[in-house]
Amino acid sequence: MSASIIDGRAAAESLRRRIAERTAQLRGQDLIPGLAVVLVGEDPASQIYVSSKTRQAEEAGLRHFDHKLPATTTTAELLALIQSLNSNPEVHGILVQLPLPKAVDSAAVLAAIDPNKDADGFHAVNVGRLSLGEPATIPCTPLGSLILLKQALPSLAGKRALVIGRSNIVGKPMAQLLLQNDCTVTIAHSRTRDLPALCAEAEILVAAIGRPKAIAGDWIRAGAVVIDVGINRIDAGNGKTKVVGDVDFETAIKRAGAITPVPGGVGPMTIACLLLNTVNAAIRARFGAAGETLPV
Ligand code: NDP
Repeated sequence: MSASIIDGRAAAESLRRRIAERTAQLRGQDLIPGLAVVLVGEDPASQIYVSSKTRQAEEAGLRHFDHKLPATTTTAELLALIQSLNSNPEVHGILVQLPLPKAVDSAAVLAAIDPNKDADGFHAVNVGRLSLGEPATIPCTPLGSLILLKQALPSLAGKRALVIGRSNIVGKPMAQLLLQNDCTVTIAHSRTRDLPALCAEAEILVAAIGRPKAIAGDWIRAGAVVIDVGINRIDAGNGKTKVVGDVDFETAIKRAGAITPVPGGVGPMTIACLLLNTVNAAIRARFGAAGETLPV
């Protein structure tokens, strides 16, 4: 058996198309969803992420407000910027690119974002709303992972799901989303005993560890749907590097029913979901709870 490949690039493109159609409609109602992007310092990876985010925002018809600040920016200066973005009616989503320089109090900066403009869904209010099962802005990577999972497995109810990783940005919100979708959820982490035995039971396996090929193909239950969130750069052996996931794709493909590749799986969905969160925040800001947000 060979798994079917869940194509994250195609899914992200289709989501971006839906977003662009909705933003075009909203322009007719004098509403242009606006995303503010705050980048502090010169980290090359962050600069690449931010330029992809703003380019894709533009292509999908959103307005973007770029704030590129020097690495010497203080917490107080950032808090002042966040306050001004919170009160700017043209800004519906605020994204602070992480990591912030060490001298900055990242938690204070994230907490200062208006929860209704929290495009990343990291604010404690949104974390709380998600765990209470209330309408919340959902972190982009778990949201993108859920969309891909549903594409492979439309009915999740009753499925045994294993989430490997318990970070606040991926593992924990992913587990909450699966629970909301009536899965029976197990969360594993670095102190978990006998991970292969847990994998062997999982009909859905989400790996968000940050360790290249840590999940061996023969651990995977036959026919399982595997969502590989990991992005790990490794030596390709020819003087170059390549990106691989947390799952050993070459062996996993022989066991799984469906699997996301790395690259080309969850990664492309993350930015598309950032745009989705911003457009939906704009709709709620203008039309209230009755606004017709884009469904997932
Ligand atoms: P973190 O480092 O914050 O969390 C990693 C988690 O994995 C921790 O909970 C850790 O356990 C657990 N873990 C580490 N080693 C093992 C192990 N051997 N067995 C079981 N669990 C283990 O990472 P993130 O959640 O931020 O990211 C995870 C991966 O996803 C990374 O590769 C990252 O690059 C990628 N990523 C991809 C995104 C995308 O757009 N596709 C977006 C965000 C992240 P413990 O808590 O005990 O330390």
